[in-house]
Amino acid sequence: MNETERNRHVFNVDACTRCGECFHRCPELSLPLDAAQDEIKRLIDGRESRHVLAHCTTCRSCNHFCPYDCKPYQLILERWNDLYNKRGAPYIYRFVCPTMDLNIWQMLELSLTSKEKAWIEKWQSKDPQGDILLIGNYVHLLPFVVGESALLDHFTPVDILDHWECGAYLYQGGYLDMVKQIGEKCRNDFSRWPVKRIVPLLDAVHWMITDVLPNEMNIAHDFEVVNFHQWLLEKIDRREILLKQNVGLTVTIHDNCYSKAGGGQYWDAPREIIRRTGCEIIEMAHIRENALCCGFGAGASWNRPMSILFDIMDVAGRKLKEAEDTGAGAMVSYCGGCLYLLWTARELFGSKLDIYHLVEIQRMAMGEKLDYPEIHVRRAWDLIAIITYLMIRSLFGGNFRITEISMTDRQWKPRRFVGLRLIRLMLRTKAMQYIYKKGFRLLLPLLRSKRPLPAHQLRKA
Ligand code: SF4
Ligand code: SF4
Repeated sequence: MNETERNRHVFNVDACTRCGECFHRCPELSLPLDAAQDEIKRLIDGRESRHVLAHCTTCRSCNHFCPYDCKPYQLILERWNDLYNKRGAPYIYRFVCPTMDLNIWQMLELSLTSKEKAWIEKWQSKDPQGDILLIGNYVHLLPFVVGESALLDHFTPVDILDHWECGAYLYQGGYLDMVKQIGEKCRNDFSRWPVKRIVPLLDAVHWMITDVLPNEMNIAHDFEVVNFHQWLLEKIDRREILLKQNVGLTVTIHDNCYSKAGGGQYWDAPREIIRRTGCEIIEMAHIRENALCCGFGAGASWNRPMSILFDIMDVAGRKLKEAEDTGAGAMVSYCGGCLYLLWTARELFGSKLDIYHLVEIQRMAMGEKLDYPEIHVRRAWDLIAIITYLMIRSLFGGNFRITEISMTDRQWKPRRFVGLRLIRLMLRTKAMQYIYKKGFRLLLPLLRSKRPLPAHQLRKA
């Protein structure tokens, strides 16, 4: 089955009436109906897109809005895959490619504490056994979220960067050819391990293994895969994990884009866990199938490389604002990828909103101590330093293609990164942070390419 045939299999072109409902109801674009109808025809015919390929944030809502279950989101991914084959990926995207030089994990090595490095080293066993917790590439950036927790006593934690979250974030950007290769590599690794069950910390990875890889890419598996939040609820119900303290926060919940997969199976369990910890939930205007993206997905629909990071932060800023408007004291994310991005945005926009991973709330309820918020703030500025360094480097670099999906030792040779160290050192001071934030906010309206949503388009869910 070639790429196009595979995607025809998931986007049902025959059932699509070209009604335009999908892009008309899209919480990001809200296109007028005639423009939405024109856009779906353009995408189906492979003609130039006027709106979607340049402004979509990969939030997945359109799949929920299609009355005939045609899966327009999968059509968007197919068209992005075509674009990738034509023009490659933007230089800045090497940030999330562990096999490329100047990726985020390689550069973050400079900033990890010795404790964090020790956890990660332990999690990188190539021959794990028993029940596996897939830590994932993004919690690798924030290993303190789960590092010292008794939750890990139930598992063998595994964190292998060139599993690429089982292809989840490349899939979201439409890099479908690469995802297929990654899926095969992950399936082969998992099948070789003497594994009882695999529990991905991330719903996105759960969905990749249980649906996208077998159904869209013909990569089936024969091991048991369990959703982390379902696992946790079961343990709490059986009193095998005790909630010793009432956390007592008022929180709002960020539903990530992948949580919209699977017909809503991922929305309730995190809320139930948060309630059990004694927190009160105040919902945002856009939740569940209408939830707005954390910003990460805005990088998928790029046109001008210089605008990518500003677009991402612009969308993240909108999400922060919506969370602040609820009046809740904290936002809870159940995705590590959204978490690091939202923390970066929090620092750049000077928000006072607390942001937690669901696991951190759970740990507080278990009576575990967190180094909060200090370590999050420090890590956010480490990441801002890395992003700044990469942006400067990108001025001298062009688009690229991912040629390797497996990491080699050569790629992880210790590097000095003098420029990065310098930026990081400067950004440790409050004065430089203040100047940086001011500069960022001045540049944002000039360099972003996404249109800010008009107020009337921000419909209530
Ligand atoms: S994935 Fe989200 S942002 Fe993209 S077109 Fe669909 S609804 Fe709109
Ligand atoms: S994908 Fe669905 S909602 Fe979109 S135009 Fe086709 S039938 Fe209408």
